[in-house]
Amino acid sequence: MGKTKHQGPMKKDLKPAPEFWVSPIPFGLGKVKPKHIRDTMKIVWDNKDNLNYAKNIITKGVCDGCALGVSGLSDQTLTGPHMCTTRFNVLRLNTMPEIKPEILHQDIDELRKYNSTELRQLGRIPYPMMRRKGDRKFIRISWEEAMQTIAQKMKSLNSRNYAFYLTSRGITNESYYVAGKVARYLGANNIDNASRICHSPSKTAMKRSVGVGASTANYQDWIGTDVLLFWGSVASNASPVSTKYMLEAKKKGTKIIVINPYKEPAMDKYWIPSVAESALFGTNVADEFYQVNIGGDIAFMHGIMKHWFEMEEQAYGSAINHKFVQEHVTNYEELKETVEKQSWEEIEQSSGISKNQIYKLALELANAQNAVFAWALGLTMHEFATDNISQVCNLALLRGFLGRKHSGLMPFRGHSSVQGTGEMGCDPFVLPGGAFDGENKKRIEKLWGFDIADWQGDTVGVTLENIMLPDDHERKIKCYYMSGGNFLETMPDPTFIQKALENLELRVHQDIILNTSTLVDAKETVIVLPAKTRYEQDGGGTSTSTERMVYYSPVIEGNQNRIKEARSEWQIYIDLAKRVKPEQAHLIDFKDGQSIREEIAKANPDYDGIQHLKNQGDVFQWGGAWLCEDGICPTEDGKGHLISVDIPDLNRQPDDFMLTTRRGKQFNSMVYGDYESFNHGGRYDVLMNKEDADRLSIAEGEGVVLHNGFGVFQGVAKYVDILKGNIEVYFPEGNYLLPRGRYEKYAKIPDYNITVKVEKADRFNAKKDRDYYEKPIKDLEEIPMQ
Ligand code: SF4
Repeated sequence: MGKTKHQGPMKKDLKPAPEFWVSPIPFGLGKVKPKHIRDTMKIVWDNKDNLNYAKNIITKGVCDGCALGVSGLSDQTLTGPHMCTTRFNVLRLNTMPEIKPEILHQDIDELRKYNSTELRQLGRIPYPMMRRKGDRKFIRISWEEAMQTIAQKMKSLNSRNYAFYLTSRGITNESYYVAGKVARYLGANNIDNASRICHSPSKTAMKRSVGVGASTANYQDWIGTDVLLFWGSVASNASPVSTKYMLEAKKKGTKIIVINPYKEPAMDKYWIPSVAESALFGTNVADEFYQVNIGGDIAFMHGIMKHWFEMEEQAYGSAINHKFVQEHVTNYEELKETVEKQSWEEIEQSSGISKNQIYKLALELANAQNAVFAWALGLTMHEFATDNISQVCNLALLRGFLGRKHSGLMPFRGHSSVQGTGEMGCDPFVLPGGAFDGENKKRIEKLWGFDIADWQGDTVGVTLENIMLPDDHERKIKCYYMSGGNFLETMPDPTFIQKALENLELRVHQDIILNTSTLVDAKETVIVLPAKTRYEQDGGGTSTSTERMVYYSPVIEGNQNRIKEARSEWQIYIDLAKRVKPEQAHLIDFKDGQSIREEIAKANPDYDGIQHLKNQGDVFQWGGAWLCEDGICPTEDGKGHLISVDIPDLNRQPDDFMLTTRRGKQFNSMVYGDYESFNHGGRYDVLMNKEDADRLSIAEGEGVVLHNGFGVFQGVAKYVDILKGNIEVYFPEGNYLLPRGRYEKYAKIPDYNITVKVEKADRFNAKKDRDYYEKPIKDLEEIPMQ
């Protein structure tokens, strides 16, 4: 781990920089852009019944929005206020009152008329509830009855037959840690979490390449680096305050490059509310865009490296950082051979980018003294996502962009709590402080005082499939315990997911709000438990940001809409463990948040320091300013490993489009508006290139149908600046086109990209009519005449 410590927030450059303005016309008049002031006023209005508490959360709490990380109004990167509408949007989850009983206890079919956005707006879950098979309504039950019912079911099952899942919704490191420990205490290794769905290929690839599974750099490294490259990331949308850092970087001469199929408007122009000149005149964010095919990133990176190796033949040292490679990198010759054998034809065809365009970027990176590579779901949600990230690591290692100021690898995280989830051990493949095997397992068993079952737990996708196994199958899942989450709206093939959820004997939803999955029937029983938010959690809580800052969030007092029966999530897990295995209850007891943090510090040595976080604003960064500092990686040989990968075969037929899903006016799966702020895209819009649409005679605004062997999606064509042959639809609406059972080959997360055919809706429907009429005629012909 690094020896250099982060120096805390830097002073912001207050000098205006008109060279980056979008326009001298103030407030982006006439442009499609977010309405920050209007949105903020609406949020103030929405929170009017609990305004003081809302203010206290904002000024004293650690943001439960994205993983950029902020405590109160201050972050560790730049001085000055830090706030955004994403944070304001999630605020209501913490301030709202309970759901009115007359709504909560109406017929289940009445509740099912609400979508997840409407269910969220109903208010918080007030008390434990149950719905047995055949019940038309939720009934209120006591905590005692709820926990006894769950414990009895778990006692009756083999621990292979139940599973745990934790989402990313504001859950703290403390709750993750206790959940992971409780699962293992019960003998259950089927435990997974939402962060793995988004970024586990990043961790898998980085561990293999450089020996760490987290960002090696800080946000401050953006500011003044030669190149800040975002690959498959719309950082400005996911983490709005990141734009403030980007502007600061531009002022220091940083070039911002974005690689994405769609020229994302939010990475092109942004109006940063907390920077006066940007709020008024906007900021041109990206200096360059490279529009790559969905799934074409590996080829693109091969192209960059192929140019580098060709440049090397002309002039030694013109592209590769040989000193760094010789001292700190292995497998150079193998990678070179793999790259050189790729043909330009295949590289251009797969990436969708010409050899000349690729050369431009290759040259820029070759001339850069330093660079930060940040990426997100555009790279991580593919069947070959680990290979994608291995390629990013290859680029960084060949240039020596690692372990020093202004250089590094940054998997750009989503929700505020996701970085810590795996680090706390809520993951089938890891335990706190390391892997789920060998020495680390023995170490944790010693610390915890009990043996951990040897069998390998399943990932969430496989676990859901295992629900449908025959009753006597040893891995059949019969009980699923979920902290938050809505598989119906996050996993591929929602029709299958619905069936799977219905097939569970017991489903437990520990949450603060209802969502559509809470309302699905179960074979026997559904139990709903009211959880406290992170701001109510007894003893406070911590969360870890993308840049590995562990922030302490204290209990925030003054909630006018306190949910009297809600409990801290970690306390619920302990209660469950004690009931299922009372004979060893002393091994799982924690008296308060502080005692959990003290144990985390021992269980995960990177987190040594968490035990000292006690007051508002307390924070430390695990691993120091840079992981792999000075190029020394925590791998067995201390070196970074170049990894050769192949260009994937996407099985794309000539008239196929590549489809990916995108987020609109939403935070993860939580939708806040029907239209995306940056392009006015509606939830059922199909974002496509005009030339593609012209070829298919599809007019803008016309109905289109996307179909493949897995599903059908009816939408409306919207022309955008996206690379030809690629289309985007919104998540989760487009999830019906995604197949279940297709997993990333190493990290085992679902593939969220797929080939589809696109047709005008009237043509598709006419064909359906024809097929429909043909069959009865044929059938008629087969009926023997009387
Ligand atoms: S950018 Fe992220 S961390 Fe910062 S206020 Fe917004 S949601 Fe919170």
